[in-house]
Amino acid sequence: MTLESNVPPTDTLQELDAAHHLHPFTDGNALNAERARVIAAADGVMIRDAEGREFLDAMAGLWCVNIGYGRRELADAATRQMRKLPYYNTFFHTTHPPAVALSAKLAELAPGGLSHVFFASSGSEANDTNLRIARRYWAAKGQPGKSVVISRLNAYHGSTMGSGSLGGMSYMHGQDGLPIPDIVHIGQPYWYAEGGNLSPVDFGLARARELEETIGKLGEDRVAAFIAEPIQGAGGVIIPPDSYWPEIQRICDAHDILLIADEVICGFGRTGEWFGSQSYGIRPDIMTVAKGLSSGYLPIGASVVSSQVADVLNASGEFNHGYTYSGHPVACAVALENIRILEEEGIVDHAKNVAGPCLAERWMELGDHPLVGEVRIRGLIGAIELSPDRAIRAPFEGHCGRAGRLCRESCFENQVVMRSVYDTMVISPPLIITEGEVEILVSRARSALDRTLTQLQVEGLM
Ligand SMILES: *Cc1c(COP(=O)(O)O)cnc(C)c1O
Repeated sequence: MTLESNVPPTDTLQELDAAHHLHPFTDGNALNAERARVIAAADGVMIRDAEGREFLDAMAGLWCVNIGYGRRELADAATRQMRKLPYYNTFFHTTHPPAVALSAKLAELAPGGLSHVFFASSGSEANDTNLRIARRYWAAKGQPGKSVVISRLNAYHGSTMGSGSLGGMSYMHGQDGLPIPDIVHIGQPYWYAEGGNLSPVDFGLARARELEETIGKLGEDRVAAFIAEPIQGAGGVIIPPDSYWPEIQRICDAHDILLIADEVICGFGRTGEWFGSQSYGIRPDIMTVAKGLSSGYLPIGASVVSSQVADVLNASGEFNHGYTYSGHPVACAVALENIRILEEEGIVDHAKNVAGPCLAERWMELGDHPLVGEVRIRGLIGAIELSPDRAIRAPFEGHCGRAGRLCRESCFENQVVMRSVYDTMVISPPLIITEGEVEILVSRARSALDRTLTQLQVEGLM
């Protein structure tokens, strides 16, 4: 089958999809029993299915379409680059203009001291690179024993063997021999679900201090790095208490371990600053970027490292690592065009000063809904906890995930795309969302909550 201008009928597509396409993070038989939704086009914050039904995409694809869909400039940038130099590598003492320009641009945008860039094609690959950089860094400094990377339970850092091991997803670790050795996980700063009777501030400190305890147990001479998302995305948009990050930073400084900020979701304006590290006063040694780097228009990721880390790497002989598509010229050209638009149109400012406050105000109003245990939001990333009893932050005991799944389906019925993480609903809309579109998002979310509540009552879960 070829994809000419005449796209086959939807049911043909669905049959072929079921027959030949293995989907990521999907129960294949369950999907094929109901068939995949076919998304055929998109513009701004809206996506359209093959039947022409429009949905407000409150997930920006998969947390990535920061500048919104349908920007011709990115297509033009790709075309221009593809015509001039569609591919060349950066391995054997060569480089090319798009990789040079994007490295310099990232060094300019990145917070303090991050000055060098190693390219990948995804967040997963970039985190694999980070794992290798962190270990190589200490080995080059004569401390090869410093090889353990500490991460957090319920963190998401990607899906390769390395990045999936760095992540703390129990459902991933349950398959295929993950995690690989020398990766240790500590608790997450998820006050709503795990904070018990502690105040958020005390809980944030307690969870940060698990890092110090773990370093103490392992020995400082064993620990290479700590990796974390400024705000956990796939884990359920877990916004840490304000006490958390300053304490983490203190501990990393005190114990001489590298701090890796995984900015794959938080980067490029999501939290209202260019990087989540700036929102939380984090001073990372290494930063992972992907997703919003190209607004998802082409696959690209990168490790942005401090001059100190780069100097050690550069002085330690050959780094036996790289990808055929490290610094792919077309992906770099598209990322540069995306960044140009973010800058010239003031989109990060818009997220911080217009869309963010407007969405926060309307989003928090959902907290009065009888199905809602908590609402939270920072910049343009937010969550709703579904709960049968808000007063005690109760989970749906014995039916974990049912309410979330029903709500996700109800969202589609109401023409808004939200994602469920167990019984947490999450959003991360394109940063260009207007105040009018915020209205639509929140009113459709409320209708979805109403419908979900009714269904849960029918099922006897409320
Ligand atoms: C999505 C994500 C990744 C993985 O990126 P891929 O491009 O899917 O490999 C890594 N870290 C975080 C925080 C992510 O959200």
